[in-house]
Amino acid sequence: MSRVLIIGAGGVAAVTVKKCARLPEFFDEIYLASRTVSKCEALQKEIGADRIKGVFAVDADHASEVVKVIKQVKPDLVVNLALPYQDLAIMDACLETGVDYLDTANYEPKDVAKFEYSWQWAYQEKFQKAGLMALLGSGFDPGVTNVYTAYAAKHYFDEIHYLDIVDCNGGDHGKAFATNFNPEINIREITQRGRFWENGEWKETDPLSVREDLDYQNIGVRASYLMFHEELESIVKHFPTLKRARFWMTFGEAYLTHLRVLEGIGMTSIAPIDFQGQQIVPLEFLKAVLPNPGTLAEGYSGMTCIGTYITGIKDGKEKTIFIYNNCDHAACYEEVGAQAVSYTTGVPAMIGAALMLNGTWKKAGVWNMEQFDPDPFMEMLNVHGLPWQVVDVEQSPFKK
Ligand code: NDP
Repeated sequence: MSRVLIIGAGGVAAVTVKKCARLPEFFDEIYLASRTVSKCEALQKEIGADRIKGVFAVDADHASEVVKVIKQVKPDLVVNLALPYQDLAIMDACLETGVDYLDTANYEPKDVAKFEYSWQWAYQEKFQKAGLMALLGSGFDPGVTNVYTAYAAKHYFDEIHYLDIVDCNGGDHGKAFATNFNPEINIREITQRGRFWENGEWKETDPLSVREDLDYQNIGVRASYLMFHEELESIVKHFPTLKRARFWMTFGEAYLTHLRVLEGIGMTSIAPIDFQGQQIVPLEFLKAVLPNPGTLAEGYSGMTCIGTYITGIKDGKEKTIFIYNNCDHAACYEEVGAQAVSYTTGVPAMIGAALMLNGTWKKAGVWNMEQFDPDPFMEMLNVHGLPWQVVDVEQSPFKK
C-alpha cells in the first residue's frame, strides 16, 4: 500500500497526477496540495475522487503548513512539483514528519537567481541520519539527461570525456512570445550568464552569446545557445573523468528579440520597484501578463528533441553516441491535455516516484539521478511515453 502527496497543481503536476492515477500498482492513493486549491479540485474532478483521495490548500513557503498536510495524509513520499523556491521548506517538512522527498528543480532563493545544489546537498547528513531519501531533479533536464549520462557510462564507455546536453523545442504554439514552463523560473534561468565545465574549472560566457547550429532528429537544424543548466553541476561531480560538459538550448529569432526588448526595458528584473505605492517585482508582473504555459497545449504542433551527446573511450578507441527522445506536442495533448514540455517533465517525476515507492531506487540521503542504476528508469521511459534512441555519431557536431 503506497500513498503519495503531490504538491503543486500547475502544468507539470497535472501530467504527473494523471500518469500516477493510471498506475495503481505503484500509487494506491494520491493526494494533491497546492496554493490555489481550486486547481487541485479541478484535477480531482477530471481524474476522479477514487484515485485522487483528497485535496488541500497549502502555502509551501512555510514548512509548518506542509507539516500539517503531511500529518493528515501520512504519505510514503512527497513529490514537490511547486516552484524551486519551496524546495527547502518542503524538505524540512519531510524531515520533521519522516517522509521521503522528490523534486524536479534545484532550490533557488527568490531574491537572487542562483542555480546550484549547495543548499540541498547540505541536507545530506540530516536525511541520512533520519533514514530518509531525497531524490533531486527527477524531470527531463535535469532528470532524464542525468540518467542518459549514467546509462552511457555504464553500457557504452570505459570512460566518458565530453558531454553536450541539447534541448530543442521544435514546436509552434502560435503565440508571439510565451514560455513553456513557469515564465518567472524560465526567464530567470535563460537570462543568466552562460557557464560550462572545462578541464577542471567552470568557465563563463555572456548570456546566450555562444551559438552552434545543430541538426536535431526529426526536426532539422536549429540555432542552439550555450547556457548553464543545473544538471551540469552534479554530473561533473559524479563523473570526474569529464573534460568538458556543456548545455545547449534552441531559441528562435522572434523569441530572442522579445527577450532582448523585455530585458532592455527592465521587465525581466527581479529587483522590486515601487509602483503606485506598492512594491512589485517586474518579472512577477511579466509572468501575470504572459500566457499561462498550460494554455499553450491546444493546437501546439511539432516536437521536442532533448538528448545527450557523449564522447569517450571504449576498448581503447574514441567514439561518440547521442541518446535522445522526440516528444510530439499534439500527441501529449491527446493523451493528457498537456504540451510536450510539461509532459517530458511530468512523466520522469512519476517514474522517479514509482521507483522510490517500490524500493528499486532506495537509499537514505540526498541524491541526484545519475547516482542510481539507470536501467530500471530507462525501461520505464520506454513504457510510459518517453521512448529513447541511441545512435552512433560518426563525427561529433562539436569541436574539441
Ligand atoms: P507552474 O507555475 O505551472 O505550477 C507551479 C504550481 O506550484 C502552481 O500550481 C502553483 O500554485 C504552485 N505553487 C507556487 N508557489 C506555491 C507555494 N508557495 N505553495 C504551494 N504551491 C505553490 O509551474 P510548472 O508546472 O511549469 O513547473 C513546476 C516545476 O517543474 C518547477 O519547479 C519547474 O522549475 C520544474 N520544471 C522542471 C523541468 C525539468 O526538466 N527538470 C522542466 C520544466 C519545469 P498557483 O497556481 O497558486 O500559482
